[in-house]
Amino acid sequence: MAAAAAEGAAAKALRAVLGRAAKAAERSGRAAEAVRVVAVGKTKPVSMVRELYDAGHRCFGENYVQEFVTKAPQLPEDIRWHFIGHLQSNKVKSLLAAVPNLHMVEGVDNVKIANHLDRAVSSLGRDPLKVLVQALVNCKLEVCKAIDMPAEQFELSMGMSGDFEQAIEMGSTSVRIGSTIFGPREYPNKKN
Ligand SMILES: *Cc1c(COP(=O)(O)O)cnc(C)c1O
Repeated sequence: MAAAAAEGAAAKALRAVLGRAAKAAERSGRAAEAVRVVAVGKTKPVSMVRELYDAGHRCFGENYVQEFVTKAPQLPEDIRWHFIGHLQSNKVKSLLAAVPNLHMVEGVDNVKIANHLDRAVSSLGRDPLKVLVQALVNCKLEVCKAIDMPAEQFELSMGMSGDFEQAIEMGSTSVRIGSTIFGPREYPNKKN
């Protein structure tokens, strides 16, 4: 971590998030290292990602292919990039060519399904997040059983700025944090 005096707003926010994630991991009986924090810099400038890199962070996520292939080559090669958006098969090649240090692709098509479920569950008057997360955890356990894999080795990526502590407490191994670290996103045409 950079010296406190030189620390910018994003690095400071990251440090706070890492601390909160570590505490949540502890509450779930795990070490802080058991939970990965992916800093999601979509719509934010390369310089802000660089600030976090300089503060020691190495795990970053992007959500749009075009933005990703423009940004990643401007940043150090030991970054572990996570692509967390919808990836069309015809884009895979260009993505891999532009970002040799792509660490993981996290499909998020299930976010749509999750949103549908969320509405359905809300209308039943139950805490939608708890129900959803429990469904994911159950799903993970079933898959582990089916393929005979120890549950600790199975990644479960869930949790964003608004709910990451709760997600970690319930077993998430990877959280994707954007706005809490980088500040609110501004979209020119308010599509998202
Ligand atoms: C933007 C994004 C995030 C980060 O969202 P915040 O609420 O800003 O933390 C996480 N996951 C995906 C798939 C995203 O697109």
